[in-house]
Amino acid sequence: MGAIVDNLQAVRARIAAAALHAGRDPATIGLLAVSKTFGADAVIAARAAGQQAFGENYVQEAVDKIAQVDDPGIEWHFIGPLQSNKTRPVAEHFHWVHSVSSLRIAQRLSDQRPAGLGPLSICLQVNVSGEATKAGVSEAELPALAQAVAALPGLRLRGLMCIPAPADGMDAQRRPFARLAQMLRRLQVAGLAVDTLSMGMSDDLEAAIAEGATWVRVGTAIFGVRTPAAAPSGDPEERT
Ligand SMILES: *Cc1c(COP(=O)(O)O)cnc(C)c1O
Repeated sequence: MGAIVDNLQAVRARIAAAALHAGRDPATIGLLAVSKTFGADAVIAARAAGQQAFGENYVQEAVDKIAQVDDPGIEWHFIGPLQSNKTRPVAEHFHWVHSVSSLRIAQRLSDQRPAGLGPLSICLQVNVSGEATKAGVSEAELPALAQAVAALPGLRLRGLMCIPAPADGMDAQRRPFARLAQMLRRLQVAGLAVDTLSMGMSDDLEAAIAEGATWVRVGTAIFGVRTPAAAPSGDPEERT
């Protein structure tokens, strides 16, 4: 687990350097440690190194891990594909969901959010690459969805998330992130109090920070390469 501490330090240094390069305050960029497929021990090791926010993709794996880690100081973020029959545990156990792309899912999360927990923070996932197979709402459908989600009482719409198709080189990586940032500005102009851009992963966090990311979601660079053997058994349809 010593590697996790070193890796976290290296990722924080990358974030700080990218922020400096972009003329941004590093404190405006949150690091989400994506612990999917890794055990509670990995989360506990990262937590001991000062990491506070963790991202998970698979509902059952996450709920089990949250119970095992049992640390009220951790902020849990759901970032994976979400099926409507699995919204309840997400509404009950997470602080944020980054991967909402339909009003039906948003409505269920709002209805199922326990009142005592306060509103669930939401990012709408946008399909910036335009591929038919990729998850996310289209740019054309985004404004209406954002207005509808912002009106739901159990949720607080915070901003936008994307997972662009992999690209080589800074310029190609920056393009989809720039488009997501522009979409966020349009929602702000339309009167929505949104402030969050969840974008950038292990391979492209510098490009995302250059375009205004406020959450980078980093798995491999912190916890190492995910192997199928490390993945728990579960619903294969949920896997990405
Ligand atoms: C797995 C995952 C990440 C982390 O990806 P790495 O390349 O391992 O940093 C970030 N965001 C989402 C939505 C993911 O599913």
